Amino acid sequence: MFDKILIANRGEIALRVHRACKEMGIHTVAIHSEADRNAMHVRLADESVCVGPASAAKSYLNIPAIITAAKITGAQAIHPGYGFLSENAKFAEIVEKSGITFIGPKPEHIRMMGDKITAKEAILTAGIPVVPGSDGAVSTVEDAKAAAKRIGYPVLIKATAGGGGRGMKVARNAEELEVAWSTARTEAKTAFGNEAVYMEKYLEKPRHIEIQVVADSQGNVIHLGERDCSLQRRHQKVFEEAPSPVIDAAARAAIGKTVTTAIKKLGYLGVGTIEFLYEGGEFYFIEMNTRLQVEHPVTEMITRVDLVQEQIRIAAGKELSLKQKDVVIEGHAIECRINAENPETFTPSPGLISDFHAPGGLGVRLDSAVYSGYRVPPHYDSLIGKLIVHAPTRAEAIARLRRALGEMVVGGVETTLPLHMRLVDNKDIQKGDYDIHWLENFLKSTKDPKKG
Ligand code: ADP
Repeated sequence: MFDKILIANRGEIALRVHRACKEMGIHTVAIHSEADRNAMHVRLADESVCVGPASAAKSYLNIPAIITAAKITGAQAIHPGYGFLSENAKFAEIVEKSGITFIGPKPEHIRMMGDKITAKEAILTAGIPVVPGSDGAVSTVEDAKAAAKRIGYPVLIKATAGGGGRGMKVARNAEELEVAWSTARTEAKTAFGNEAVYMEKYLEKPRHIEIQVVADSQGNVIHLGERDCSLQRRHQKVFEEAPSPVIDAAARAAIGKTVTTAIKKLGYLGVGTIEFLYEGGEFYFIEMNTRLQVEHPVTEMITRVDLVQEQIRIAAGKELSLKQKDVVIEGHAIECRINAENPETFTPSPGLISDFHAPGGLGVRLDSAVYSGYRVPPHYDSLIGKLIVHAPTRAEAIARLRRALGEMVVGGVETTLPLHMRLVDNKDIQKGDYDIHWLENFLKSTKDPKKG
């Protein structure tokens, strides 16, 4: 096992990885930007190295500085967290070439899944159903029109290099398609430096259901059930739960088997998430994330498996700590992403956190790196914490979440806590009756016209 791990990230996820390491008796090295000198992930780590100025491009994405930090501190492995360099195949390669272990999948799998077209092809070949769409990129308007005719409107144009919901445009007819195709390409070029786009059938009322997989180097592959992440704003997840209110044990076992068989065929190593849209009782693959997900805690709560510790064990060449038959799903877990944003306009609200009180009690978990007197920097994403609850039933989990949200205090900056309070009080949410468009419609229908 490793003695020392460098955590190439910041915020709550850096802290999450630090916690897993400490429980395994592993020393931690934090990296940070100049803006994050006083951050909790730096304070708690055994050692820390400043890797550059505030701008992420010059610090958390600064590969030479990060490798140097690992070398001078003698870290044997690097955990990338999520975001930043976590899905950068080149980084994984450089880490390995420097004689350091990358805690994550092999670069070839990161690369394969990072391009949505090669990912879909590989996944389909491995036996997982995909959303019907263009076979490969659509590089001219004529191609796009021909593909749309074959698939049937409405269609969705998506960026090959996509992520974070950017570069996606819906078209309901040939006229809309011309505009959608060119705006998606422009957006993709700006966001990812790659204008290639492809096309999918646009599903009208699906849920977003994803399956957590874990694979070791001895050929063991297990799944830990699903997460329902249908509550999204601008294709970004806001509120996640596990298990899904619409998946029963038989459906879970069936998709779990399909997915683990495919993952084994691909020779994948580490943790990964296969994302599906689920409509009319059918699963349609949309993408695979080759890293730890933001919403991984809900899976941890219902399975009692520490996913970060499993990642570290796998990277050290050890066997998974459990077999598929040992996986027991118990109770219900919900996660709320708490962002420093205005809860109605979603404008970021960086600044000083003047008061902070964390909720507690049975079945309540708060993954956050903020504290009273902490200044939320304007340079990074606005996630300041994740409130996770676990209870025997879904109804009890909702009641517990309402109670915990009521206890939580974050003063000085605006947060999305009031939005989560509205969600737990909503009848559709209480019934589990929602799809991927529900939240956008809810926000539109309850918007105060005066606030714009
Ligand atoms: P990204 O990598 O940008 O997050 P995804 O392919 O994971 O892109 O899709 C993000 C979200 O966009 C999905 O969770 C879903 O809400 C929506 N979406 C993606 N593909 C489709 C589709 N074919 N039909 C309807 N909605 C879709």
